[in-house]
Amino acid sequence: MDPVIALVGRPNVGKSTLFNQLTRSRDALVADHPGLTRDRQYGVGKVGERPYIVVDTGGLGDDPEGVEAGMRAQALAAIEEADAILFMVDGRTGATAADEELAAHLRRQGKPVWLVVNKTDGVDHRLATADFHALGLGEPLPIAAAHGRGVAGLMDRVLDEL
Ligand code: GDP
Ligand code: MG
Repeated sequence: MDPVIALVGRPNVGKSTLFNQLTRSRDALVADHPGLTRDRQYGVGKVGERPYIVVDTGGLGDDPEGVEAGMRAQALAAIEEADAILFMVDGRTGATAADEELAAHLRRQGKPVWLVVNKTDGVDHRLATADFHALGLGEPLPIAAAHGRGVAGLMDRVLDEL
């Protein structure tokens, strides 16, 4: 099966925006992939000739006390079934407690993770990414999902390393 890449992160960081960029068309929605549940939104995309499956998830919640249990379970299940994770954070807000909580889970989990800093349109990339080195998940990679900026390069890198 093609590699399964999960988009995870707290609400509003731009997961669904990136999902749409990565899949581009509703026709691309996965119809029948054995082993994948219907609870999450799947799509297919391609970098060059290399296909992948991408999974959009609900957020893991902003307030550790007030997380929506269902959404949280869904995101954790998506991480479980993925071959690789794109962990999205918001370059305009900096790292939050929810980001740190999710980062800790991903570090323990041990799957390949790329730390994707979204919303870097119109901001200094160095400043926007600076806050996220401390999450301990490698080099923060700036993109602007809404404009597709940095997205092709990101996916090249991910598929090269998978
Ligand atoms: P999700 O909750 O993580 O799925 O986030 P969404 O994809 O729904 O996006 C949340 C908000 O961030 C929306 O208003 C998007 O338009 C906005 N957004 C997403 N990507 C970008 C980006 O690259 N730049 C900016 N400035 N806004 C973005
Ligand atoms: Mg969404």
